[in-house]
Amino acid sequence: MTGVTVVDHPLVARHLSVLRDAATPSADFRRRLSDVSMLLLYEALRDLRVREDTIATPLESTGGMRLADEIVVIAILRAGLGMTDGALRLIPEARVGHLGVFRDEESLQPVGYYESIPPHAEDAEVVVADPMLATGGSAVHALDRIKRDVSGRVRFVCLVAAPEGLKTLQAAHPDVPVWCAAVDRELDERGYIRPGLGDAGDRIFGTE
Ligand code: URA
Repeated sequence: MTGVTVVDHPLVARHLSVLRDAATPSADFRRRLSDVSMLLLYEALRDLRVREDTIATPLESTGGMRLADEIVVIAILRAGLGMTDGALRLIPEARVGHLGVFRDEESLQPVGYYESIPPHAEDAEVVVADPMLATGGSAVHALDRIKRDVSGRVRFVCLVAAPEGLKTLQAAHPDVPVWCAAVDRELDERGYIRPGLGDAGDRIFGTE
């Protein structure tokens, strides 16, 4: 699928298997999600622009580099919070925004309830993080909102995507590339990804 990268790496696949396992306790789930988020973002940020720099080592001056653009990670609440720690371990200088979007259980439509987008992020490289791309409703809602403030490049990183969510996201935002660890079979009638891993927010926060 154009614009979708399934990160094909044995460590990503192993993390995903443990995350799918219903017997994995919340503490392990959180740590695994953080670790696999680092790997996914590492791939997603491969084409970051860099600028040459001069570095003074203890012995002499040498060539180095710095990132040309600011990085802003925007977590879709609440499950996206499970990816921010890994993102910040990878890019400690990143700023983090939050968008609260919940899914109305009846209509399955996204409803925004909170937003915090770092100021002056117009030119930043933005990474939107949400472990589960299910219907795509929350993702499209978040991207619509982000693009009101940001004119720089925007990418979407998730752990598991449903084919339906990818289609919806790509129809609404064809310029936003997606990285994930797996594209699963389908969405069920309750909007859960199958085989999936259940409710990511519940598994992160132990609220099942
Ligand atoms: N959100 C989740 O956390 N899990 C799903 O399967 C779908 C949406």
